[in-house]
Amino acid sequence: MKRTKTLSETIAEYGRRRAKRVSSRVQLCGCGCGRSLEPRVDGHRQQIGGKEVNDDCYFRELGKAIEKHPIHTPSRSPRHRK
Ligand SMILES: [Zn+2]
Repeated sequence: MKRTKTLSETIAEYGRRRAKRVSSRVQLCGCGCGRSLEPRVDGHRQQIGGKEVNDDCYFRELGKAIEKHPIHTPSRSPRHRK
């Protein structure tokens, strides 16, 4: 007689299969630095232009973007100084 798998066994098997599939596919950082994406505990990743990137790269790119396109324009004019 064929033994029916319990729900927990099925879930465990699915989890193992899923983990294997994920680890076999190396995902590279979207910024083009060539490094693989670091695993995230919370599953949330920073994105640049819709591509998932490492935190380091995200903040580096964010810093560059701010330099190029300042969000807060520095008040260079004395008239606008506080
Ligand atoms: Zn990167």
